[in-house]
Amino acid sequence: MKIHEYQAKDLLAARGVAVPKSKVAFSPVEARAAAEEIIEATGNEVVVVKAQIHAGGRGKGRFKEDPELGGVKVVKGAEEAEAIAKRMLGKTLVTVQTGPEGKVVKRLLVEQGVDIDRELYLGMTLDRAIGRNVLMASTEGGMEIEEVAAKTPEKILKEAIDPAVGLVPFQGRKVAFGLGLSGTAYKKMLPFLSALVRAYEDLDCSLLEINPLVVTKQGEVLALDAKANFDDNALYRHKDVEDLRDPDEENAAELEAKSWDLSYVDLDGNIGCMVNGAGLAMATMDIIQYFGGKPANFLDVGGGANAEKVAAAFKIITRDPNVKAILVNIFGGIMRCDVIAEGVINAVKEVGLSVPLVVRLEGTNVAQGKKMLEESGLPITTAASLKEAAQRAVELAK
Ligand code: ADP
Ligand code: MG
Repeated sequence: MKIHEYQAKDLLAARGVAVPKSKVAFSPVEARAAAEEIIEATGNEVVVVKAQIHAGGRGKGRFKEDPELGGVKVVKGAEEAEAIAKRMLGKTLVTVQTGPEGKVVKRLLVEQGVDIDRELYLGMTLDRAIGRNVLMASTEGGMEIEEVAAKTPEKILKEAIDPAVGLVPFQGRKVAFGLGLSGTAYKKMLPFLSALVRAYEDLDCSLLEINPLVVTKQGEVLALDAKANFDDNALYRHKDVEDLRDPDEENAAELEAKSWDLSYVDLDGNIGCMVNGAGLAMATMDIIQYFGGKPANFLDVGGGANAEKVAAAFKIITRDPNVKAILVNIFGGIMRCDVIAEGVINAVKEVGLSVPLVVRLEGTNVAQGKKMLEESGLPITTAASLKEAAQRAVELAK
């Protein structure tokens, strides 16, 4: 699960990570009030209005309706903050991470203007190869870290975190020193790093990224941007985080799938897939690609699905306007083929079938399942093997 920058900063600030003074705003009037409050508190007229969407690259992004304007705007005074808020809210921001369609901005963060001396990078994520969380730091702040990793990997410092003891003081010193910090900034960096690592672990994050982490002209160390992703499997123990979910930012089909406990990921191809088991779903997507097609989704209905769940899955697939053919590929182990057949037949009867449907069943009660499909009188193409099924689906989608 992802959250907005302002939400991530709130969670971090509550755990001792230093962030600039800021306030969320949902309207131009609120943006003005927020700016007034911040100017009053800091004595500095410069404030920054930042579009809140679940995507980075906002500073360099541009609004579709207003190409002069980017998603991060430095302004002077509350009046100007209100004017910029008016120009941003309800408009579509396009960045390298949103894709060409962009995202509609509905929330803003109004933040104190910071006197930046240096922009650094800090990130934390799970390194699956070594089985530990790693803290990453780089002097190349503000840049895409993927680019730094590809071109100059030596510029990324990495510290693996021992799960039993957390960040050890010498590791913090190594990172702060490696970033070239000294004096006040060096001293402030050590508690900053400890707090950040603890926040990552306490919140069950899967990614925490501070890009940029800035050193101010006054020697302050601040998280100027914050991106937090969470491990969905641990959300049950973080109700406060779960409450931060912004449905506007999430894929409607994926949300619906989640409510049915289906593993569903929306993709950009045109062959809808309904499969049981994650491995078989991956293999099905591979074989579709092998025959020149493109899957419209990943969908694992799971082992113990009933007919209603299968019908729900089928409806989610058919609602996608890009879907030009559907491939149902089921290996009945725990799942019975007759249950799948029943679910598919019920769903087709309810929502109709406007695209070709190819079904390949194998395993428990396969004969019964096939018989049900045949006797249903519905225009369903059955296939004997996965290869044949994929080939048929690719042909029919054309
Ligand atoms: P994004 O990564 O989506 O572009 P950031 O929050 O990283 O958004 O902001 C982009 C850039 O804007 C930063 O690298 C920094 O130079 C500038 N910036 C952001 N917030 C502030 C602030 N409060 N004060 C001064 N400059 C800022
Ligand atoms: Mg950033």
